[in-house]
Amino acid sequence: ESFDAMGLQENLLRGIYAYGFEKPSAIQQRGIVPFCKGLDVIQQAQSGTGKTATFCSGILQQLDYAVVECQALVLAPTRELAQQIEKVMRALGDYLGVKVHACVGGTSVREDQRILSSGVHVVVGTPGRVFDMLRRQSLRPDHIKMFVLDEADEMLSRGFKDQIYDIFQLLPSKVQVGVFSATMPPEALEITRKFMNKPVRILV
Ligand code: AMP
Repeated sequence: ESFDAMGLQENLLRGIYAYGFEKPSAIQQRGIVPFCKGLDVIQQAQSGTGKTATFCSGILQQLDYAVVECQALVLAPTRELAQQIEKVMRALGDYLGVKVHACVGGTSVREDQRILSSGVHVVVGTPGRVFDMLRRQSLRPDHIKMFVLDEADEMLSRGFKDQIYDIFQLLPSKVQVGVFSATMPPEALEITRKFMNKPVRILV
């Protein structure tokens, strides 16, 4: 299997190859196509398996680049991970002209607001700051059609459950959901039951 066989846009493929990837990892082989079809996807995989590029490709493939509104929201448990995802998203989407911003704690709220109001396609962030931006209406949820929880088990063990639920309530009800998690504790399963629609489950 190759990235070429996945039906991805030419400019996304260019970004993937320019980033240095030659062949998809196991999780990418199984996960990218269902995500690109708009299906809800649960991927149980450790970090190091290539999960970041899986959901970044799925998001980048489906964005409408002519509409500079936030269409995809990715939550991660730590600032460092959110900023790392932002970098990968930007690199893979370089030839597509994607606009990505990381909303994380410990940075200037004003600066977040300024960048969000200037227009982005994708927001990656930690639950606290993302919820804050939604609450202040600096981040508008109306155009969001994809929502990814990365390291869901880790976010739950860090006490982000209520904020994740609060964010879900603000999103359009037909949002596509991707959940990535190394383990599936009861609280993670509860999220999949409550917020996902006939999810495809991929275990790597
Ligand atoms: P992740 O699980 O997303 O944190 O990725 C783990 C590491 O694998 C990162 O350093 C990625 O850059 C790398 N990686 C992911 N997918 C591929 C691929 N298809 N080919 C080569 N390296 C990859």
